[in-house]
Amino acid sequence: MLYRSTRGKCNDYTFEEAVMTGLASDGGLFIPETIPTLPENVLQDWKNLSFTDLSFEILSRFIDPTEIPAEDLRKIIKASYSTFSNDEVTPLVQINKDMDLWILELFHGPTFAFKDVALQFLGNLFEFFLKRRNANRKSSSDPVHKLTIVGATSGDTGSAAIYGLRGKENVSVFILHPDNRVSPIQKAQMTTVLDDNIHNVAIKGTFDNCQDTVKELFGIEEFRTKYSLGAINSINWARILAQIVYYFHAYFALVKSGKSDPKVVFFTPTGNFGDILAGYYACRLGLPVQKLVVSTNDNDILDRFFKTGRYEKGAAGVVETPSPAMDILVSSNFERLLWYLAYECETDPSDSRSQVEQAGAQVSKWMEDLKTRSSIAVNPKSLEKAKSIFASGTTNQEQTYSAIKSHYDIIPDESKTKYLIDPHTAVGVHLAYTLHDEISSLINSEKFTSVCLSTAHPAKFVEAVTSSLASVSPKFDHNEILPPQFVGILDREQRCTVLPNSTQAGTFCSHCSITILFDLAEL
Ligand SMILES: *Cc1c(COP(=O)(O)O)cnc(C)c1O
Repeated sequence: MLYRSTRGKCNDYTFEEAVMTGLASDGGLFIPETIPTLPENVLQDWKNLSFTDLSFEILSRFIDPTEIPAEDLRKIIKASYSTFSNDEVTPLVQINKDMDLWILELFHGPTFAFKDVALQFLGNLFEFFLKRRNANRKSSSDPVHKLTIVGATSGDTGSAAIYGLRGKENVSVFILHPDNRVSPIQKAQMTTVLDDNIHNVAIKGTFDNCQDTVKELFGIEEFRTKYSLGAINSINWARILAQIVYYFHAYFALVKSGKSDPKVVFFTPTGNFGDILAGYYACRLGLPVQKLVVSTNDNDILDRFFKTGRYEKGAAGVVETPSPAMDILVSSNFERLLWYLAYECETDPSDSRSQVEQAGAQVSKWMEDLKTRSSIAVNPKSLEKAKSIFASGTTNQEQTYSAIKSHYDIIPDESKTKYLIDPHTAVGVHLAYTLHDEISSLINSEKFTSVCLSTAHPAKFVEAVTSSLASVSPKFDHNEILPPQFVGILDREQRCTVLPNSTQAGTFCSHCSITILFDLAEL
C-alpha cells in the first residue's frame, strides 16, 4: 500500500514516509492510494476478535508487510494497548435502553482522552522506525537517526503525545501550550512527566500563537532538517488509521450483545475531523453504518457545511465553549474528505488529465480559495454524496450542560443508567436525542442504535462538569470521580519553561527562544 497527497503533486510514498513526515511536500495530507477490499465474511469472521487482533487485521491492510513485518506490527499494536486500563480497550456501555443509546468509552488510556488510542500507537511506530534506521547505518560513525517532535496543544493532544513518547530512545519532545490557558489538571498531566526527553513550554499567549510558532519552525527548511522535526498533530495518517478500529469494535460489541444485524448511527464529537474521518474509512471498508453524525459545538463550520455545501470560516473567529478540544475555526482533516468528494463528484471525463490528477488540482484550488476568500463551495452532487454517509448538528453551552445533568441527576430504572459524561461527549449525546426523529426518516427506520463516542473522562473537565451539576442534591463532589492517577497530581513536581510570545506583531524570532531550548536539551 502506498500513499498520495490530497493536493495531487506527490504520490507513491511509503507508509513510513507518510508517518515520519506527517505532511506531504506540496502541503497536502496523505491518503492511501486505494481503499483495501476486505474479505467477504469479515462481519462473521472478525466478530469475536480482541481489540488488538482486530487492530492487526485492519492496520495490516494499510501497511505493506515489506515495510512492517506481521510479527512486528502485532508487537507494536500489543504494546500500544497494554497501557489501557480496560480489557476491552474501548468498551461499549448502554445508558438508555428505551432509546437504545450507548456510550463508546474511548478514555481508558494513560491520559484519559481518546487521543491515546492513536498516540500510543504512533509513539511505538516512531520508535520502531528509528530503531530500524539506526540498525541499518552502514558504519557506527554515521550520525544516529533522531527525531524532534514539536507540537502545540490546547490541552489533550499534548499529554497524549507526551505519554506516547516519554522515555523513547532518540526522540525529543517539545510541547507548547498557552500559559495559564489550559486547565490545571491538563497542565499537570503534561508537566509532571519528568523523563529527560520531555520538554514542556508555556508560551505567554494563546493556542494560536503556539500553533504559529510550531508552523514557523516547520517552515524553516534548514532548521527542519537539522533537527529532524516530526509532527504528532491530528493530520498524521497513523492517527486516523488507528482510530478506524474502534468503529468496528463497537459494531461487534453490539452483535455480541445480541443484535444480529445492528443498524448503527455514530455520534462523534468533532473538532479537527480526525475521529469521525476514521469512521468514514470504516464505512468505506464495508462496515455497515447508517449515519455518522458530525457533532459540533458553537464552532460549527462543519455542521454548516453539511447543511449548505459551503465550507466557510465563521466571522466571529474561534468561540470559547465548555468543550475546548473542539474549539476550531477550520478542521484540518476535512481536506481528506474533500479529496474523496472531488474524486467522485467533481471530475470531468472529457478532461485529458486523470481523475486522480483532477481531484488533486481541485483540492489545491479549494485550499487556496479557503485561504484567500475564507470560503469554498462544493457542487450539489458532492454535497449529496457527503450526506449519504454524514449527518450533522450543533450543541450549544446550555445544551451541553443539560445533557451532562440529565444523565447524572436521575433515579436509575430499568431503562436508564446513572452516568456522568464529559462536556465533549455531551455534544454528541445531546444530538442523539434531538436528531433522533430526523435520522429515523433519513434512514427509513424507526428503530436504530445510537452510539455516542466518549472522547474524554469527565474528571479532565471538572469545571464544566461541576457547573452542569451546580443544582443537584446531594451536592456533587468531583473527588468521587477522580481516577487514582489524578489524586494529588496538582502537588507533584512539575517541569516547564515559560517563554514570551514572540510571534506577536509579525516579528519573526520566536524560533530563537525555542532554539535556545533545543541547545539546552543538547540536541
Ligand atoms: C481532540 C478531541 C476531540 C476532537 O476530535 P477531532 O479528531 O479533532 O475531531 C473531541 N473531544 C476530545 C476530548 C478531544 O480531545
